[in-house]
Parts: sequence; structure tokens; C-alpha cells
Amino acid sequence: MTDSARSNIPTFDGEEILAGIRRWVEIETPSHDGVAVNKLVDVVQSDLTRIGAQTLRTPGRDGFGDILEARAPWGDENEPGILIVGHLDTVHPIGALATTHVFRREGDTVYGPGIYDMKAGSYLACYALQHFVREGRRTTLPVRILYVPEEEVGSPTSRAAIEAAARKSKYVLVMEPARDGGKCVTARKGWGRFDMTITGRASHAGSRPQDGRSALRELARQILDLEAMSDPAVGISIVVGMAQGGSAPNVVPALATATIDLRVPPGIDADAVVQRVLQRPAFDPDCRVEVTGGINRPAYAKNEGITALFEHAKGCAAEIGFVLEDTPLTGGVSDGNFPAALGIPTLDGLGADGRGAHALDEQISFASLVPRAQLLVRMLETLR
Ligand SMILES: [Zn+2]
Repeated sequence: MTDSARSNIPTFDGEEILAGIRRWVEIETPSHDGVAVNKLVDVVQSDLTRIGAQTLRTPGRDGFGDILEARAPWGDENEPGILIVGHLDTVHPIGALATTHVFRREGDTVYGPGIYDMKAGSYLACYALQHFVREGRRTTLPVRILYVPEEEVGSPTSRAAIEAAARKSKYVLVMEPARDGGKCVTARKGWGRFDMTITGRASHAGSRPQDGRSALRELARQILDLEAMSDPAVGISIVVGMAQGGSAPNVVPALATATIDLRVPPGIDADAVVQRVLQRPAFDPDCRVEVTGGINRPAYAKNEGITALFEHAKGCAAEIGFVLEDTPLTGGVSDGNFPAALGIPTLDGLGADGRGAHALDEQISFASLVPRAQLLVRMLETLR
């Protein structure tokens, strides 16, 4: 067989791919349930072992599941290669599969908990590796897959592993879902998470209101002031997502808490914004305001290396027969933020097309499975 004939895309079977995805979807994996996530890690590990991949499993911490790293059964371990990243957790609770997110196929649409974000994409990585093994072919660069157990809560226990694996790699491909008709992701905002605690003074709301210092009133003013720092023109957003306070209807509230979500586009001095969030003077001098937290995921900027990687992917897609576009800067973050911020060319959103991430109608397009599998395989075989 000539080289050019070898590079022709061999048969990919959508039904087979979907059957594999279904097996992974039907093991429910809420991020905080490490035992549940590990049931899927067991299956993924055996799927990878069966095709000859070497796996390394790092026990989970803080109640999260294990981190699973797999190496394709070829290539020099020490040569910088291609790192594929996916997460095995979902935002959906155990039981969603039997109630709100029953696995079902209606025409081209396939529903299931976490099928779009991102079990379909994670499975495609495994399928692509299996494809090379079946064809008896190899990639030029060594390939690793890293599956993390808790991306949906910010990858607190896997960030270091992602960064360490990325540092050893030439390219990082992230199998998060495709957007809006198959677009991939080449830039993401940075994400900051903060907790605010306000301490006031309790008193009787009826007989001694003047003695109290309302932590809730202080919080209300803080929320307005914080959210006013948002700047849609440059893409900075601040949202207080959760707030609570008070102890009883007839007591001036002594305590209030809130969570703060910050998104900062690439090219903005995130530290300056972070400092403004952390150092909140109290409006009421008798209240105490404390803020903890910081940037969880640094911004992912579309630099030269990322542009070149995207152009390469576009060329691969064109050979397969579709147009690959990238989506404009997204406020959603992923594990792609970590390698991109380290300067490693990173392409994200390579997973299945669909919609409804985290929602009740979470779904993928069956028709996208084969082209996305072909795209990944083609990239793995052409990246140098
Ligand atoms: Zn995801």
C-alpha cells in the first residue's frame, strides 16, 4: 500500500462509536462522587488496556475519582507528543439517567446525562487510539490521553497532572464539545471564583434595630458595587451567583455570605481585577468584609501556535469533507485553559456536536460522530 492510500480514512462506524459512548454514559459520574466516577475509570482503563495502551492511574484525593493517563502502545515516552484531554465527570446527579435524562435516540439526536459535555468527546479519544491499533498503524508523534475526574468543579485535584502532562507535550487536543454546528474552541476567558463573608451585628429587629448592623444590607450594597465592575465592552463579567444570610425573620442579620464569579478575557490584567475583588472596603464601618479566592483558570488566548494548530485542523477537516470553524472567544472555561496558559498550542472543542451542556435537553448529533472521529484520527496522524 502506498503512503497516500494509507492516509485515506478507513471505515468508521457511527453505530459502533455510539454503542461505546452509551456504555460510558450509562455509568453515572457526578463530580463529587469519587466512587461513582471510579466505576467509569475502571471501564475506561480496561478499554484502553484491551487495545494495548499503557495506563497509569493516580488515586483520587478529597473524595474525587482517580486520574487516568494512557499512552499509545508506540512512540518514545520521552519525546514531546500529543496530549489528548477529557473529563469523565458530569454535572448530573445519580438517577438522572432513569428520570430526567433517559438515554434515547430520536432521529439524529441522542440524549443522555453528560453525553455532550463530554462523554462523547472523551470516548472519541479512546476510539481514535483503537482505530490506529486496528489498522496496524502508528502516529508520528507519541500520543497520551489524560482523563480527569472533576473538571466540572474546576479540576482542583487534577490541575497539576494536566499541567505536568502538557509541559511534556508539543500539542494539546481537548475533547470538550463542539459548538454551534461543529465549531472548535481557540480562546477562552479566564475564570475567577471567590467567597465573600460579611459579619455585622445581631439585634432584635423590633425592639433594638438601631443596635444591629445588617450583614445582608452590606451584602446588597457589595453585590451592586461588585457587579458594576463588569465591563461588557471589554468582556469582563462579575456575577454574584449565590448569596445567603440572616438567622431569623425578626433578627438583624449578623452574617451573610456570597459567591462571586469573575470572567476575564485574554489580554486584560486579571490581577488588577482580582485585587479589586479581594480588597473590598465595607460601606458600613461596623461590618467586616472578607473575600477569599482567585483565578482558577487563566485565560486561553489564541496566539500564533494555537492559530497554526487550528489551521492544521481546518486542513484535515477539508480533506474529510467539512468546514471547521472556531467559535469567538467563549466565557466558558475548560481544562484547555491550563495548557494554553502555559504556551502549549491547544485546540479545544474537538468533541461531538450537539447542545444543552448541563441542561435537561443535553444531546449530541449522531451524524457528527464519524466526522469528529475522522478529524481526530487525521490530526493524530498528520501532526509533526
Ligand atoms: Zn466539559
